[in-house]
Amino acid sequence: MSTDRIAVMIPWLGEEEAKAASDAVLSGWVAQGPRVAAFEKAFAERVGAEHGIAVSSCTTALHLSLVALGLGPGDEVVVPSLSFIATANAVRYVGAEPVFADVDLATGNLTPATVDAVRTPNTKAVLAVHQGGVPADVTALRSACADWDLPLVEDAACAIGSTVGGKPVGHGALLAAWSFHPRKLVTTGEGGMLTTDDAEWAARLRRLREHGMNASAAERHASNKPVLEQYLEVGFNYRMTDVQAAIGMVQLGKLDAMIARRRELAARYDALLGDVPGLTVVRDPGHGQSNFQSYWVLLDEDFPVGRDELLGALADAGVSARRGIMAAHLEPAYADHPHAPLPVTERITRDSLILPLFHTMTEAQQDRVVATLREQGRR
Ligand SMILES: *Cc1c(COP(=O)(O)O)cnc(C)c1O
Repeated sequence: MSTDRIAVMIPWLGEEEAKAASDAVLSGWVAQGPRVAAFEKAFAERVGAEHGIAVSSCTTALHLSLVALGLGPGDEVVVPSLSFIATANAVRYVGAEPVFADVDLATGNLTPATVDAVRTPNTKAVLAVHQGGVPADVTALRSACADWDLPLVEDAACAIGSTVGGKPVGHGALLAAWSFHPRKLVTTGEGGMLTTDDAEWAARLRRLREHGMNASAAERHASNKPVLEQYLEVGFNYRMTDVQAAIGMVQLGKLDAMIARRRELAARYDALLGDVPGLTVVRDPGHGQSNFQSYWVLLDEDFPVGRDELLGALADAGVSARRGIMAAHLEPAYADHPHAPLPVTERITRDSLILPLFHTMTEAQQDRVVATLREQGRR
């Protein structure tokens, strides 16, 4: 039996990505250029959106989407506390207030009811997350937000290739923000994307990521006449590089294989752990399918050991698991931030853990994870 450490996530990168990055470098054009444009187009097509706007991270994508919505001081944005902290921080970047809503126990996501419970007359937008790749029920959320006349922004950082009602997450989204951090499926090292069906918003977002400039560097380069650019508003430098986009294109081509393998390994975890008393495994919700970016299990009182003790036992067995998804309201950065009771959020963040799952994971490695969990479950 191998005692090599089993990582929680390993990006699936190889020679093809190395060659693509090398080609970009040797082309002499390394900043945002033709490879970014091609990646945007391919990405938007894959997620069923009209326009893709590549940026430097999902965090900057979220920031730009809230700038584009014109949010600022005095405005409230409903967000789940149960998310990576960037979701709440993006609201702070524009000077607005994140208002934490609780989540559904099975999916870890906002629902119309949890949003409605914290909505006020100052609510100007809802920022929903597809947590760990488990799709939020955007059909229900979009219809509720339409009734409330509120824009719905989707934090799809983890959800590339997840589906709702057979359509990819991103399809029909007003604004969706994506991440290419190595902890997600498709990686470019760092990087992000915004997708939308609205051409005017796409043009504004393109401008905002590039200092508010009305003509991109690539457009000026391609023109044989001098192009005098103007700076139409105060923007940002949130660009992606062509080296990243070159890697992203190769990664995108591997996405279907990544999802298939992750779903296969998730089904195997389900079969091997589904009967352990006191342990609930994450599953596809009724409304869609997960890409299983994160595979988590939730412990209840029947499980013989607590979450942190279980993480310790896994570490002793050479398995890198992680605590479950964090809750922003429990972090020092939000210690003074008022919020309604968040019992489900607190239960999930306290009692869940994320198990190793990566494309090149072997069944033998998975068996080692399962054996430790079953052993602890019998104590
Ligand atoms: C990873 C993640 C982010 C941040 O993505 P970056 O690309 O690292 O900025 C935001 N939201 C969620 C839900 C995430 O999982």
